[in-house]
Amino acid sequence: MSSFDFDLFVIGGGSGGVRAARMAAQRGVRVALAEAQGLDGLGGTCVNLGCIPKKLYSYAAHYAEAFEEARGYGWHTATATLDWDTLKRRRAAEIARLNGVYDRLLRASGVTVLSGWARLRDEHTVELATLNADGSPGHQRWRAERILIATGGTPHVPHFHGREHVITSNEVFDLAPFPQRLVVVGGGYIACEFASIFNGLGAQVTQLYRGEQILRGFDDEVRHFLAAEMRKKGVDLRLQTGVVAVQREADGLHAVLEDGNRLVADAILYATGRVPNVQGLGLEALGVALGAQGAVLVDEHYRTNVPSLYAIGDVTARVQLTPVALAEAMALVDHLYGPAPGAAPRSAHYDLIPTAVFTAPNVGTVGLTEAQARERYGRLRIYRSEFRALRHTLSGSEERTLVKLVVDDASDRVVGLHLVGPDAGEIVQGFAVALRCGATKAQFDATLGIHPTLAEEFVTLR
Ligand code: FAD
Ligand code: NDP
Repeated sequence: MSSFDFDLFVIGGGSGGVRAARMAAQRGVRVALAEAQGLDGLGGTCVNLGCIPKKLYSYAAHYAEAFEEARGYGWHTATATLDWDTLKRRRAAEIARLNGVYDRLLRASGVTVLSGWARLRDEHTVELATLNADGSPGHQRWRAERILIATGGTPHVPHFHGREHVITSNEVFDLAPFPQRLVVVGGGYIACEFASIFNGLGAQVTQLYRGEQILRGFDDEVRHFLAAEMRKKGVDLRLQTGVVAVQREADGLHAVLEDGNRLVADAILYATGRVPNVQGLGLEALGVALGAQGAVLVDEHYRTNVPSLYAIGDVTARVQLTPVALAEAMALVDHLYGPAPGAAPRSAHYDLIPTAVFTAPNVGTVGLTEAQARERYGRLRIYRSEFRALRHTLSGSEERTLVKLVVDDASDRVVGLHLVGPDAGEIVQGFAVALRCGATKAQFDATLGIHPTLAEEFVTLR
C-alpha cells in the first residue's frame, strides 16, 4: 500500500498541467491537480487570458476591415459600430463554457481537481491554501510520489515612475470603457497582436518599441514587411523609443517618452515579456535549481535537480507556446508511465516549431530565418514574392502579402518558410508537416497548387 495520497500531483491547471493530468490518469495513475484560480481558472493562461480570448478579439477586429472591403464588391453597408460590452460579455461566456469543459474532461479521466494556491512543503508534500467551511483561511496537505510544476508565467512590467497606472494583457480584455487612445509598449507577440486588435476595433493606437524593429527573432524581411503593413492600417508604430514615466492627469494618462515628448492615452498596455510563476512555491527552500527570472531548470525528461519534482510549460521559460506545453506534457507522461497501448512514446521537438502572430495581417512561420539559415548552412537560395492578393483587387485594400522560402543550397531542403498575409497561421500549419518530413524545393515544385489561392504561391515560387 503506497504511503502517498497520489502518484502524481500537478500544480497548475493550464495547458501543460491539464494535459499531463488527464494523460497520466488515463494510464491508471492516481492524479490530483490544483489550480490557484479555482475551477474558473481551469485552462490557465491560454483559455482565460491568452490564446483563446485574444483570437476571439482578433476575429472581432477583422470585421472592421471586412465591412470596409465589402463595398468594393458592391455591398452597401451602413456604418458599423462596435458594442464593446457585448464583445466582452460574449467572450466571458465562451471562456466560462471552456472552463466547464476542462473541469468535466479532468473529472471524466479520474483526476482529483482541487482549488487553491499550492506550495511545496518538502519534495513529496504539497500544501494547498483553501477556505474552511466558515470562510476562514485553511490548508490541506497532500503527499505525492511525484510533483509536476506547471504554474506558467505572468506578465513582467519594468520599474518606472507611475508603473501602477499601466495595464498588462491580464487586464486588457475587460477594460472599461473602451480605450479610444491606447499606447502599447513592447515589440513582441503580445504588443503587436494587441496593437493590431485595438487598431481594428477602432482605437487610436501608438506602439512603442525600444529596438530597431518589432518581432525580434523573426525573419528580418518579415519584421520590416509587417511593420509597414501595420502602419498602413493605422498603427502609429514608433521604434527606438520608450516610456520613462506615466502620470495620471485630468485628460488621461500621460506617457512621458525618452525624448521628453508626451502621449496622452486612456490606457497604456505593457507587453514587455512574461516571467515564470515561481514566487511563494517554496522551490528555493528545497534547493530546486532556477535559471534567469526564476525559470525552473529541467533535464531532457523535465526533471528538476530534485528527483521527485518535474516542470513543464512556461514555468521553464523555454518556448512559451501552448502546443509546446502540451507536447511536453505528453512526452513527460509517456516517459514516466509509458505510452498509450500500441503507441510509440512521444517526445517534444524544439526545432521546426510553427508559430503565428495574430496581427493584421497575420504572420506565420516555421523553420529558420534567413540569417539563422545562413549561419547554419552557408549557401542558401531565397525565393520570395510580394504581391497584392486577388481579394484586394476589388476590395480597395492596400494590404500586401509576403511569401518567402529559405532553401539550403547543398541539400535543396526547405529550411524556413515565412508568410505575412491573411490566415498565415492556417496556411503554415500544413507546410510545417512538409518541413518536418524534410521536404526539398524540388518536392515543393512538384506539388500542384490549388488555384486561385494565396497558399499556392509556396509551390510556384521560382
Ligand atoms: P499556464 O497556462 O499559464 O497555466 C498555469 C496555471 O497554473 C494557471 O492557471 C495558474 O493560475 C496556475 N498556478 C500558478 N501558480 C499556482 C500555484 N502556486 N498553485 C496552483 N496553481 C497555480 N500561445 C500559443 O500557442 N498561441 C497563442 O495564440 C498564444 N497567445 C497568447 C496570448 C497572450 C495574451 C498570452 C499571455 C499568452 C499567449 N500564448 C499563446 C502563450 C500560452 O498561453 C502559454 O504558452 C501557455 O498557456 C502555457 O501553458 P502552461 O501550462 O505552461 O501555463
Ligand atoms: P516577448 O518576449 O515576445 O516580447 C517582449 C517584448 O517586450 C520584446 O519586444 C522586448 O524587447 C520588450 N521588452 C522587454 N523588456 C522591456 C523593457 N524593460 N522595456 C521595454 N521593452 C521591453 O513577450 P510577450 O510579452 O509579447 O509574450 C510572451 C510570450 O507569450 C511570447 O514570447 C510567446 O511565446 C507567447 N505568446 C504567443 C502568442 C502566439 O503564439 N501568437 C501570442 C502571445 C504570446 P526586445 O525584443 O528588445 O527584448
